[in-house]
Amino acid sequence: MSKNKKKREIGRGRAIRNNLYACSLLAKICPKLMVHDAISQFLGYFEWLFYSAFFMRYVINSLEAGDSFGTIMTFVGVVAVVMCSMSLYSKILTGYTYPICYAIVNKGLYTRLFRKSRNVELECFENSEFYDKYTLAMEKADERLRETVSAVFRTIFGAISSVCAFVFMYQVDKISVLFILFPVVGNFVFNRKISHLDYARNQDMAPHNRRIAYINRVMYLPEYAKEMRLTDVFSLMRRQYRDAIQGLADVTRKYTRKAMVLHWFYVMCTFTFIFEGLLIYGAYRTLVSNTMSLAELAVITSMMVSTTWILIGFTESLTSLFRNGLFIEYLRTFLEYKEQIPEDQPGIDPGTEIRTLEFRNVSFAYKDKEVLSHVNMEFRGGMTYALVGHNGAGKTTLIKLLMRLYDPTEGTITYHGRDIREYKPLDYRHRIGVVFQDYQMYGASLEENVIMTSAEEDGSENDGSVRTSRRKDAASALERAGFGERLKSLEKGLDTQVTAEFDKEGVNFSGGESQKIAISRAFYKDADILIMDEPSSALDPIAEYELNKAMESAAEGKTVFYISHRLSTTRDADRIILLENGRIVEEGTHESLLALGGQYARMWKVQAGRYEAS
Ligand code: ADP
Repeated sequence: MSKNKKKREIGRGRAIRNNLYACSLLAKICPKLMVHDAISQFLGYFEWLFYSAFFMRYVINSLEAGDSFGTIMTFVGVVAVVMCSMSLYSKILTGYTYPICYAIVNKGLYTRLFRKSRNVELECFENSEFYDKYTLAMEKADERLRETVSAVFRTIFGAISSVCAFVFMYQVDKISVLFILFPVVGNFVFNRKISHLDYARNQDMAPHNRRIAYINRVMYLPEYAKEMRLTDVFSLMRRQYRDAIQGLADVTRKYTRKAMVLHWFYVMCTFTFIFEGLLIYGAYRTLVSNTMSLAELAVITSMMVSTTWILIGFTESLTSLFRNGLFIEYLRTFLEYKEQIPEDQPGIDPGTEIRTLEFRNVSFAYKDKEVLSHVNMEFRGGMTYALVGHNGAGKTTLIKLLMRLYDPTEGTITYHGRDIREYKPLDYRHRIGVVFQDYQMYGASLEENVIMTSAEEDGSENDGSVRTSRRKDAASALERAGFGERLKSLEKGLDTQVTAEFDKEGVNFSGGESQKIAISRAFYKDADILIMDEPSSALDPIAEYELNKAMESAAEGKTVFYISHRLSTTRDADRIILLENGRIVEEGTHESLLALGGQYARMWKVQAGRYEAS
């Protein structure tokens, strides 16, 4: 067990602070839910105590004292009305108030999580430890936050009710209290042991569950569907799935015996002891020593039942308090994470003029692996640059640094003479239009896929003229990217839904068409730095030729960066930069590099040979 303790991720103090953090977070998102939850938990415990400790005693005492039937029935009637009102309140909560509050919590919490997830730097997504915690924090976060706060209230009212139950029982019979004290200790000890065991078992199960979740994803995500049919990778997945299930079974087996023994002790020390023990004690006093009336026995028995359940509720909520503390730890770590490059970080506005970018002795490492080494280069505004080189040479990383998705480990990047870190990231990135190699299509209209912002955000929702010009610009950007003819052929034009996931009339565009849409985004943005990462990889030669022409006119007066393996795409660039192992090894125009007869010339020769052969 000491091994399990060592594995525990957070201490008790932190777990309690996390529960308080959850309360303050929920209070900010939906205070109404907090109030109703607290009232409903309070009423739940009140009902138990009232019936067993007060109601029963009052009725039996009244009967013994010979009170009139009318007096007793009035009391019973008043209690019935109060209880009916409480039951009605509880129905209103579950049928009306809670569903509304739950929607508010979902919106409030996920808005915070989405905003954070958009702002944390790319590096966080590549850090598996952070990413694991992030996905754990996102999973059913709203439900778990609500459950955490509920458990806090259950613990508070459970503790108060437990004390009250003790006092009531003490008043009726001092010795009977012992029958509860013992189970309280037993319950606490064994519940804790069981919870440690559960934690250790869940830890051992986690890698297998993660594997199962991965296989689930692979089986339903469309990007895997083609290979799944054309190769035998399914058998690989099936094998991994079988191993993971076997792993889960092994873990379960490993803990079963211990869990069974602990559960047996738990039940014996709590329920059996209290139920059987108190009944034997009561029977002895009523029937053998004649020191207890049947009325007292009835009260004690009824109190025993309610006290037991109050205690069970209390200890369980105490256990969940610690369990939830760990989940809140993930949520809190994520929400409180301080972004290194927050996009709204204060800074200067770079303006719209075309400016010069400069890399000064820039190096960059992913963790310990250096992928760019002492890069010095000036990129003049209005010129076209091509970054070429083998896979893994560092081209994409250089571009990511330029976009300030990462900061260099050494050296500086300047824009118009100023370190790019001095600019407000949001404004600086607005200056850049980019087509990533792994661009994505979104489940939205074609227009929205080009503009990449909502009508609400760009003010066109309620303004007809802004809306018209927005649509005109989107159509023109698509046309410049070579998508004009296809646009005309679409029945719903710009309103066509991309992907058929949410609309059965939606269109799944081909690779080349999607690439043109992605390119049109950069044209629409009208930024002064254009970055094209393998812009023509999915295009046929004619489309590539057209794109090059479109780029020529779109790029006029802009600084353009191409990353491409196809030297035919990049040969007309004003400057070609050849990267190798994170260093610039050759640089010049196509002609000068050919004349140099170095690596570029060799690459050109190989590729030109291929063109000729085909
Ligand atoms: P290129 O664009 O020239 O193909 P990249 O800039 O993508 O090269 O990658 C340069 C090197 O950095 C490669 O060795 C690649 O494996 C490594 N690399 C790229 N991205 C990451 C990452 N997120 N984490 C760790 N290493 C990375």
